[in-house]
Amino acid sequence: MKTGIHPEYQKATVTCSCGNTFEVGTTVKNINVEICSKCHPFWTGAEKFVDMEGRVDKFKRKQDTAEKERNKRILAIKEKIAKEKARKDAPKSLKDMLKTLQ
Ligand SMILES: [Zn+2]
Repeated sequence: MKTGIHPEYQKATVTCSCGNTFEVGTTVKNINVEICSKCHPFWTGAEKFVDMEGRVDKFKRKQDTAEKERNKRILAIKEKIAKEKARKDAPKSLKDMLKTLQ
């Protein structure tokens, strides 16, 4: 092995978001993981949402924003249809206007 070019191989502590820790041999000092064999649904059999970086919240925010935008568009379309209908129902000439007054 050539000297001076290889990173130092050492024991590192792996910390899971569930609190479980274990050691592995690696070149970095600490490793943080979101899921390990102690808490993975495959091994535990229980459903669990892993949300270390707030991805679920971000997704929910996106969904809320999309829903608001959708409702806004629906409202705009309904207004447009109502305006169109009002314009269609309006008298087209002075003669039509006089007919509606009688
Ligand atoms: Zn874990």
